[in-house]
Amino acid sequence: MSGEELALWLQELGQPRFRAGQLFGWLHKRPAERFDQMSNLPRSLTELLEEQAVLSELSIRRKLVSALDGTVKYLFALPDGELVETVVMDYRHGSSICLSTQVGCRMGCAFCASTKAGFVRNLAPSEILGQLYQAERDLGRPVGSVVLMGIGEPLDNFDNVIRFLSLLSDENGRNLSLRHVSLSTCGLVDRIRKLAELRLQLTLSVSLHAPNDAIRAQTMPVARRYGIDALLDACRDYAGDTGRRISFEYALIRGVNDSRACAEELAARLKARGGGGWCHVNLIPVNEIRETDYRRAERQRIASFQGWLGERGINATVRRTLGADISAACGQLRREEQAAQPGKYGKKEDLP
Ligand code: SAH
Repeated sequence: MSGEELALWLQELGQPRFRAGQLFGWLHKRPAERFDQMSNLPRSLTELLEEQAVLSELSIRRKLVSALDGTVKYLFALPDGELVETVVMDYRHGSSICLSTQVGCRMGCAFCASTKAGFVRNLAPSEILGQLYQAERDLGRPVGSVVLMGIGEPLDNFDNVIRFLSLLSDENGRNLSLRHVSLSTCGLVDRIRKLAELRLQLTLSVSLHAPNDAIRAQTMPVARRYGIDALLDACRDYAGDTGRRISFEYALIRGVNDSRACAEELAARLKARGGGGWCHVNLIPVNEIRETDYRRAERQRIASFQGWLGERGINATVRRTLGADISAACGQLRREEQAAQPGKYGKKEDLP
């Protein structure tokens, strides 16, 4: 609930409005694990809250810390026993947390572990926030930025993700500026247009992974629903409407999308929509997952690909690989746990 909604609800319970601010603080500023820890609330109210409400609790099922780079990966159990993954990565400029937005995913990308067992359900706003609060509590320090790049397709859980963003950035709560938030989508064009209307200051990352529909459709079923030109048009309009540069993710898979011709075609499509200024390309050495034969492009090829884009005026960077020893890429840990519990699988569903 927003602060205003909390106030109305407390009013219905016969409580003064100012309690809403105190309660909101206990939920978001210094998140309490139990109502009886909310020390400035009267006992009568905390007892009422215990009767009338639940504090959404995520429990740590597994926690892995990378010996290589200190990346921390959590496997969280939700109140109904479903599992999601959350990763905390340290960079020179601070730490970043990668949150899941759904249990499973129905987008079906061929290279992605998160979608292999289908879709189970959306996460509630409290469950998306809960990953952040539980990780910060466990680590004993705040993280500086949030990326919605874990399990799930954020724009397929649109309303809950928007509510999450508004709670996250609420100045009476966690107060994290949306300038420190990235939202990654596989490219649901209608939802990108809907998001643009909200004029949020977050960074939109779009998983492109190919320079044309033919190659994109080999690995991303969503490409059959939305063509690349419609997608890039929506992205360019998004950048125009919000004044925020789009970040394109491009996972380099050996022999699939890593040729010079691919780089040239990609650069041409981006430049056709107005120079290199409106976007940036983030090249990702693909994580090799157990379920596929896709292989990472060679290091030299990744550097060349970056160069081919750069020569054509498209700014590109190569994403660092973190947590390689702890299955940090999205979906891998949940898959391991599922393999140990056969039968607990979601179902494949049609794209929205
Ligand atoms: N559903 C959203 C966000 C979650 S995935 C999206 O598709 O963008 C976050 C990013 O990881 C996406 O760019 C996705 O394509 C990428 N990804 C998934 N599996 C990967 C793998 N095995 N190697 C590299 N990147 C991968």
